[in-house]
Amino acid sequence: MKLQQVSESCHAVLNERGRVCDANSGLVNRGGGLVVDTQADVPHAQRMIELFGGVWPGMPRRVVNTSEAGVHVSGNQLFAGAEIIAHRTVPDSMAHAADPSRYRELVDDTGGFASRLVRRAFQPGKWAAGTQLREEHDFGGIALTPPTTLFDDRYELDLDGVDVHLIHVGPCHQVGDTIVHVPGEGVLFAGDTVFRRCTPMGWAGRCEQWLRCLDLIVWLDPEVIVPGRGPLCGIEGAMELKAYLEYVRDEAARCFRMGLDALEAAKRIDLGPYREWRCPARLVANVEAAYRELRDEAVRQPPDMASAFEAMYEVAKARGLAVEF
Ligand SMILES: [Zn+2]
Repeated sequence: MKLQQVSESCHAVLNERGRVCDANSGLVNRGGGLVVDTQADVPHAQRMIELFGGVWPGMPRRVVNTSEAGVHVSGNQLFAGAEIIAHRTVPDSMAHAADPSRYRELVDDTGGFASRLVRRAFQPGKWAAGTQLREEHDFGGIALTPPTTLFDDRYELDLDGVDVHLIHVGPCHQVGDTIVHVPGEGVLFAGDTVFRRCTPMGWAGRCEQWLRCLDLIVWLDPEVIVPGRGPLCGIEGAMELKAYLEYVRDEAARCFRMGLDALEAAKRIDLGPYREWRCPARLVANVEAAYRELRDEAVRQPPDMASAFEAMYEVAKARGLAVEF
């Protein structure tokens, strides 16, 4: 985890590997301090607070959660008394999407040798994801702390003369997706609407809405985007992600017409240059999102992590890709 200054008042904490629980966070160190997203577990949130402590004295008085999943909200409890701001859907959806017992169950390594062997044999994806998460994360001690201020479309803050605009853009990656724009400093905290140099993961939403969101980001024309995953970028990061989503949508539509299911499609779609992006087997989650759209299905809520990891595992194995989530 590293701290990087982005503009006069904006800073980022980056977990550059971009794996499933490696999220970035932001800080605007004005007007009481505003943190964007609070990491996937308490130790990472504590480390983030330490790093931000180098550029802002005391605890920030405001927090924004850019969506409802655990990686965005699990450190909220450390900001006692802070105003926590999120889209109106977040309190209800985070109760499931960020439920720490789901993460704890994933990393659970208890039970006798035989029962572990059975789990490993029958749910190899879930097992592999749990093994990866155990290496770096500790989901103990999380007390889910919901937002205190909810908004619908937009919410504007004035941090001692620095305007901050929160814009709800979901459902794309999740239902509550919110971008945080600091227009006076040319900075946009994109949350997980932008994955940089790693494969995006559409958990809940639909492709068309995500593409509209990326168009909006390009139109806002920030100098720097702090993506939800991966290193800092400019609007080329949003454009590259848009090209990926359009490519997957078109290829998925072709497979759909051929009668392939989403898993089979994800084993066949040519990854082209996107093979170099981290965690390419996440493709299957994006194909599933495209399929939901083709079937005109509603937003998927709540997403099922364990079955998603099984599908990614199967795609990685079938295609000879690294097993990474
Ligand atoms: Zn997310």
